[in-house]
Amino acid sequence: MKTFYSGDQPGEGLYQCNGCGGVVDVNDSTFSLLPCSECGCTVWIDRCIKE
Ligand SMILES: [Zn+2]
Repeated sequence: MKTFYSGDQPGEGLYQCNGCGGVVDVNDSTFSLLPCSECGCTVWIDRCIKE
């Protein structure tokens, strides 16, 4: 697993908040990660598998 931070452009995929576990689905390779809207955490973990 890779770790990303707000402001990174990780590319398309699912990223999970390291704070609350919320998942963001990125469909735009130019999208920059934002702090989590739920808990404000700025650390995101690459998550390959959709539930
Ligand atoms: Zn969060």
